[in-house]
Amino acid sequence: MSVDSRGRYTPEAMGEAMPGSEGPAGSRSHNLLSPRRASLMQEPVLVLNATYEPINVTAVRRAMVLMLKGVAQAEEMHNTEVHSAAHAHKVPSVIRLLAYRHIPQQSRALSRKNILLRDRNTCQFCVRVFPSSELTLDHVVPRSRGGRSTWENLVACCYRCNNNKGDRTPEEAGLKLARKPRPFTLHTSRQLMRLIGHRDERWRKYLFY
Ligand SMILES: [Zn+2]
Repeated sequence: MSVDSRGRYTPEAMGEAMPGSEGPAGSRSHNLLSPRRASLMQEPVLVLNATYEPINVTAVRRAMVLMLKGVAQAEEMHNTEVHSAAHAHKVPSVIRLLAYRHIPQQSRALSRKNILLRDRNTCQFCVRVFPSSELTLDHVVPRSRGGRSTWENLVACCYRCNNNKGDRTPEEAGLKLARKPRPFTLHTSRQLMRLIGHRDERWRKYLFY
């Protein structure tokens, strides 16, 4: 689930599951047996291209693997360490790829997951936030009327609104779309990164320019 009960976006974005905030900053240490370590390893990490352009959000665990492989280096760190058998590792907040990666300008793959992400788990008719399991995809123009499965014709929809709408267009059902559905582009991704980044000041200089 990527939206909390108050409708704020929390970072499950880009396919990474991430639990809530670690709380106020300070020097903390987590050993292998620490119950908090597992959640720490899921904290969001901003990924920059070699050119410092923000391109993705990943989890601490994945970021540390990229660093160990020499694919990325840390640009910003938390005041927190995790310990393996022999070493203490600072926990990254922002990493940068060492080799430039070409990011195609085309939109992301059309999938249920990406549509829910684009619509921020919000039913596009009643504008309420739901867990992913309580949302379906609605064809704005029904398939029976020639509506296609495209970014522009699929929206996140709760089961209640979906039933209510049935085999009708929104106009016929007296429903109004919260916003016009658009393809999920890198621009959308960056908006999401900014929402996530509000939690971590270390991200600001890379995202707010
Ligand atoms: Zn609804």
